[in-house]
Amino acid sequence: MTAHALVGRAAVAFGVAMAVCVVVAQPAAASPPAASAPAAGPSSESASAGPGTAAVAVAPPVESDVPLDLQQQLDALVRLAEDHHPQAAQALGTMPDPGTPAGRRALALARAEADARGVDAAQAERSRRLAVEAARAVRAELAAADELYLQALRLQRERGYVTNNSAAAAVAAYEAWCKSEGVYALCAWRPRWRLQQLLADVAEEQHAPAQARAHAQAALELAVAAGDPWRRAYSESALAELAGAEGDRAGAAARLARARALTERLDDPRMAARLLQMEAELALKAGEYDRAHQALLQALQAGRRSGSTRLQVLVLANLSDAALRAGRPRDALQAVTQGLPLARERQMRSAERTLMNNAVVARVALGQGDVARREFDLLQAAWSADGDTGAQVTSMREYGDALAAAGDVRGAVEIHHRERELARKLAEANRQAALAELRMRYDRDAQERKALLLERDNALKTAQLDNQGLWQTLWALGAGVLVLTIALMLVLLRRVRETNRALEHSRARLRVQSERDALTGLANRRHVQAALHAGSLAQDFRGALMMIDIDHFKHINDDYGHASGDAVLVEVARRIASVTRGDDIVARWGGEEFLILAPGLAGGDADALAQRVLTAVGGATVGLPDGRSMRVTVSIGHGVFPLPPYRVSVAPEQAVNLADMALYTAKSQGRNRAVGIAQVQADSPAALRAVEADFERAWVDGQVQLRVDAGPPG
Ligand code: GH3
Ligand code: MG
Ligand code: MG
Repeated sequence: MTAHALVGRAAVAFGVAMAVCVVVAQPAAASPPAASAPAAGPSSESASAGPGTAAVAVAPPVESDVPLDLQQQLDALVRLAEDHHPQAAQALGTMPDPGTPAGRRALALARAEADARGVDAAQAERSRRLAVEAARAVRAELAAADELYLQALRLQRERGYVTNNSAAAAVAAYEAWCKSEGVYALCAWRPRWRLQQLLADVAEEQHAPAQARAHAQAALELAVAAGDPWRRAYSESALAELAGAEGDRAGAAARLARARALTERLDDPRMAARLLQMEAELALKAGEYDRAHQALLQALQAGRRSGSTRLQVLVLANLSDAALRAGRPRDALQAVTQGLPLARERQMRSAERTLMNNAVVARVALGQGDVARREFDLLQAAWSADGDTGAQVTSMREYGDALAAAGDVRGAVEIHHRERELARKLAEANRQAALAELRMRYDRDAQERKALLLERDNALKTAQLDNQGLWQTLWALGAGVLVLTIALMLVLLRRVRETNRALEHSRARLRVQSERDALTGLANRRHVQAALHAGSLAQDFRGALMMIDIDHFKHINDDYGHASGDAVLVEVARRIASVTRGDDIVARWGGEEFLILAPGLAGGDADALAQRVLTAVGGATVGLPDGRSMRVTVSIGHGVFPLPPYRVSVAPEQAVNLADMALYTAKSQGRNRAVGIAQVQADSPAALRAVEADFERAWVDGQVQLRVDAGPPG
């Protein structure tokens, strides 16, 4: 009637029973603490630091600000809450305001720790928020760590000893905060101790004994450094349990002895029960059933003393299990009979089922096969509904073994087949889960690879876009430069044009200046010379030519001054120009002599022009700069070439010469008159040259006929 297959489960229940006060869960994911610290060797410290005499070498921040008695009170209430939550919560709720931020944080944290283990999730959440707020008043980083710590506690309450990332994160957060505060061995040591114990439990549950030991050892070192006997005893017992699980009975016994010594003065029945149960476990392993039974009975007494139903249930479950393993089904059934109502009252489902299972095995051994079968079927249905195939298989094996031991071979074989079938399904499910895990991992890898490719693709596209942008910028710059260049060229071109125009203008002005007489503004002699020699005129001069000379100009200069002479010159020039037409050239030939060149003028018109000039100049007085005025007259000699009647071609110089001779005639006849050459009896150039050579004689001889027009009378 051995219930050996339940040993593992019993051990788990046992472990839970141990965790009366300090239950936290967390996975091996947390950085495992240093495997050992020489300074905190389990045997190096003495138990002399009694309760309330925390011998701390380094003042822990925050903790040191909280009065020790307050902190110990809080510790005790948190432990009480493990089994008597309502009372503990009530006591914590009515505690007075500690008055300091660190004190308020300690109280709020204790309330939240207690509520995290309670049944009311909403209350746990409210307390957690309040605790985080209180911690924030101390330091924001501490608040973050406290929050993770409380999450870890709640997670353990709700899910059990499963991987607890919050616990790992909380340890890291506390360590980071402590580091930032300077290195304090005892910084935030209470939550850190609890987290390490929780992580040890998780590692143990996950069959990672080395990590479990490392976490428990780290917890022990914190407890030793803080001089906290209760926590030291707890950690020692945890290490003892681990040593026992690995077959190190001597080591386990030594640790248990140390734990007992530490707790002697504490008067803590829960801790006593924990240690007694462990002792029983060790005794069972050694095959010393009586010693185990005695230890468990003492544990039960301690449990009753503590008033913890939960603890009693767990001890009774272990008691029933131990009895079965010792082949004492009656004792086992008795323990179950005591434990079941309590388990149901406390709604401890897992312990209830363990008890029921042990009852089934005990009943088979006691020959109550029918009842056993009914209870077995009920149990199987319950586990099946929960999907706990592992528990189903273990229970079947124990039931089958019990049937076999009781001689029910048929029943044992049937159950054995069912168990094998279920075990096969379980293995298949495990295999599927493992495959799914692998697939997930593969998918994740594939996705990561895909993400990497995408990332590279993105980088490439970004680079392409950058390049495009660069090209666009270059093009824009090029276009800008081009536009600027064109604009600049246009501006330069316009400047060149303007400059050219200005140059042309100034050239024209220069030309005008060089062709104009500076005083009168009329064309100068050079200009007339050019006109006279333009084109065909150079050999065959055609048109009217009129030489004008101011009479007695020398006297004007002499009598009125040179300035008056200049004024007269200017006025006479203006008057001459005023009677000519646009295409006539009026020039200052030199001194006080003027010349009119009128290409299209016939004979009569030339006479009329001469008359107009005489009248224009001599018809009115000329005002002088000094205010006086005087009468000025001119003499004119003119002709229209080629001269009638023979119209022999003449060169320009010859024409000027002939006009000048006519002018001379006008002077000699008394001035203020015009003498026009009306006809010249010369039918050849030679004849004309002969006339030219002695004009006066030719006139006297009648070879030349002159027309004389008188100027206005003086
Ligand atoms: P006639 O009636 O015979 O022409 O006598 P005239 O005094 O006008 O002739 P003449 O040739 O003897 O004198 C011309 C004078 O004109 C001489 C010169 O001093 C003067 N003259 C020449 N050019 C200028 C000039 O630009 N300004 C002034 N004020 N006098 C000038
Ligand atoms: Mg003269
Ligand atoms: Mg004169």
